[in-house]
Amino acid sequence: MTVGIYLCPACGREFAADRPLWRCDCGSHLNLSPGRGLSRREISAGEASLWRYAAALALSNPPRVSLGEGWTPLVPRGWEGAEIHFKLESQMPTGSFKDRGMAVMLNHLLEVGVGPIHEDSSGNAGASIATYAAAAGIPCRIYVPAAAPRGKLVQIAAAGAEVRLVPGTRQDVTEAALAALGESFYASHNWQPFFVEGTKTLAYEVWEQLGFRVPDNILTPTGYGSNILGLERGFDELERNGEITARPRLFAIQAANCAAFAAAWAAGADRFVPFEARPTVADGIATPHPVRIAEVMGALRRSKGGVVTVAEDEIAPALAALGRLGLFVEPTAATAGAALTRLLRDGTITAGQSTVVVLTGFGLKAADRIGDLLGIGAG
Ligand SMILES: [Zn+2]
Repeated sequence: MTVGIYLCPACGREFAADRPLWRCDCGSHLNLSPGRGLSRREISAGEASLWRYAAALALSNPPRVSLGEGWTPLVPRGWEGAEIHFKLESQMPTGSFKDRGMAVMLNHLLEVGVGPIHEDSSGNAGASIATYAAAAGIPCRIYVPAAAPRGKLVQIAAAGAEVRLVPGTRQDVTEAALAALGESFYASHNWQPFFVEGTKTLAYEVWEQLGFRVPDNILTPTGYGSNILGLERGFDELERNGEITARPRLFAIQAANCAAFAAAWAAGADRFVPFEARPTVADGIATPHPVRIAEVMGALRRSKGGVVTVAEDEIAPALAALGRLGLFVEPTAATAGAALTRLLRDGTITAGQSTVVVLTGFGLKAADRIGDLLGIGAG
């Protein structure tokens, strides 16, 4: 384990990540410089969590807080005639992939002496950080959209965090959190690069669970892009350590109704491109203003993958099909199933390739909404 080095993509400043910061003095987000990565002999094989890869994480000490996050199942299932590996990030301690990044981020914040924290979230990240703050014994306040699914709000409140409901758009929620900067530390998982330091272990796990092999394709629902960035970071580290010689194509899946990366992709741009954001049932990826657009676009291009948008009426059939395979996920995660169908049918992905689909959130997170979508009555 080592101390990370912050790298500002805007002003070029570099400095040790040994203090509580959520952005650079110049106002830009910060990234972590490339990590030294991992070789397979450094894996702590007896540790059934992401901490089996602790040797590769930019932390100074063993974790002070863990709920056993990571080492989630990779389950093969048939889909449109192809065998697909579904990565069940939905089986994390709080039911979403966020725990992977949040556990590493929170342990970093504890190392640099952060006390009370606050964060804005559409739901799953709030539930995750509230849970880890509870486990760490630090006060936590979460700003959430007033329209967030009740189950997610209950989960945040049950962890003992203060819940602040904010009417309006997702951006209004972020503004409310920024207005509280003087009250507590803004532990934004969307700004903090240590969140991506955690999500990079997704790459390690897929590689290890496939028998130390890299798949041809990985699809993941994408709002801010932390899984895309984590996957690129993890595979890059493995490649630099000589553990792999090829990299998977990465596909960012977005809801067509709110698709910032699709807008940038269509324009061939590495910056924010204005688009019309409409409501989507995939609330977890309804992100009008992602923080790291240039980084995510670069990762997708380098991987030779791309952005796939899914229409609202494609989500429920995919959700139902996943459910019938024993994969009960929330609508946000089902977008990846809908995109998989599209990519298989248009030949972008073939049955002979190795494909991993990341299922980001558990169905019980949004059981009421799923019932409405699938026309399941109250009985
Ligand atoms: Zn800067």
